[in-house]
Amino acid sequence: MSAPMNSDTLQAQWRQRDLDALWHPCTQMREHHSGELPLVPIRRGQGVWLEDFAGRRYLDAVSSWWTNLFGHAEPRIGAAIGAQALELEQVILAGFSHAPAIELAEELLRIAPRADSSAPLAKVFFADNGSAGVEVALKMSFHSHRNRGDDRRTRFIALSNSYHGETLGALAVSDIPLYRRIYAPLLLTPLFTPSPDAWYAQPGESARACAERAAQALQALLEREGDSVCALILEPLVQCAGGMRMYHPHYLKRARELCTRFGVHLIADEIAVGFGRSGSLFACEQAGIAPDLMCVSKGLTGGFLPLAAVLATQHIYEAFLDDSRERAFLHSHSYTGNPLACAAARATLDIFRSEPVLERNRHTAARMAALAAPLAEHPNVAEVRQTGMILALELVADRRSRAPLPAAQRGGLRAYRHALSNGVLLRPLGDVLYWMPPYCIDDAALQQLAIVTAGAIEAAVEGL
Ligand code: PMP
Repeated sequence: MSAPMNSDTLQAQWRQRDLDALWHPCTQMREHHSGELPLVPIRRGQGVWLEDFAGRRYLDAVSSWWTNLFGHAEPRIGAAIGAQALELEQVILAGFSHAPAIELAEELLRIAPRADSSAPLAKVFFADNGSAGVEVALKMSFHSHRNRGDDRRTRFIALSNSYHGETLGALAVSDIPLYRRIYAPLLLTPLFTPSPDAWYAQPGESARACAERAAQALQALLEREGDSVCALILEPLVQCAGGMRMYHPHYLKRARELCTRFGVHLIADEIAVGFGRSGSLFACEQAGIAPDLMCVSKGLTGGFLPLAAVLATQHIYEAFLDDSRERAFLHSHSYTGNPLACAAARATLDIFRSEPVLERNRHTAARMAALAAPLAEHPNVAEVRQTGMILALELVADRRSRAPLPAAQRGGLRAYRHALSNGVLLRPLGDVLYWMPPYCIDDAALQQLAIVTAGAIEAAVEGL
């Protein structure tokens, strides 16, 4: 009989098998092969904790790419998926339908943002991940203008520093050079308009005034180019992948007015900020606006399964009703509206219905603010900013001039490694450290997160 395997050996074996077979997303694989970037095979998850094969635990401070809401292995969502799997696992959604998709669509329309000044979201189209949802919204906007006889509208407006996904259409309306630049020859060229990002407020300028300045730039762009534009796409309130950059809701109000005035659709990409992340159920609510198209994904299934939904107004939907098949929206994905994913989403939304999630989050967010406050004093922290359950710290070389850390310092990587070896999964965006934990994080875990983050900051700036 062979001796029981030491748990560290087990972890190392899984790591090696991984490196022999897998190619990881958003990763320079050479850094894994060299050991510069540790690779962590995970055996199981429970609540805010991930556990590896050696029994080490990691606090998932990034909610596994911002998907998880109520903790890993949340039993109600898990049970809903299990029950659905034994009933109906998948059925084609063209010509056929099923209860989980219908009930989920009804619930999404019930909770979608509303405003007196614009038409409500009235129809739900399912896709199977965030980027695919963005593709759907872009194509729907373009095609609906065309179906209404407006052939001039062929372009999109996106914000500087935006991020909407990795597929070619979604990447085209994204503005993060690290992801976009290399593929630029393949991409549509949108019109970029300045982000209302309050980081760029001028001395003495309020976040609202900064948002107004960006709105005026948008207005000038629409006055020049509005006739050729299908839609403005934006991430409401927080540009997450762009470094958790935050802006005042005033911009959303103004963008809504301007889009209506110029006959341009407003696409709200709530993929990262939806489902309570921003403090309200949807970020658009904080500006009292409703978009023409809204994309949701990530938290939609509580972080269990890939699914996206695009909500559209009746006006957009009706533009496709015709005798001609070409005027129909023929976009499809095999797993569109998968019953298991819809069941997970229904269970997730049931939790919002039955528990005071947003109210609880307000307390958690206040604790996050209190625990992060001392970190704001650090000479290499230029800003601590927060929108609901997203808190970010911007690391710099010098807080007065806001000069960035030298690239060669690799501050973000140092912070990541420090956190990992202290039981926390922090995954900085460049030199921005952020907390975006599952909503079920308790006070002890938050305190641990704050202590490890303080150490991660020291690690990031060490030797400067
Ligand atoms: N839009 C936003 C705002 C996102 O943050 C993301 C993912 N980070 C996406 C779209 C793309 O979603 P997915 O990764 O599921 O394709």
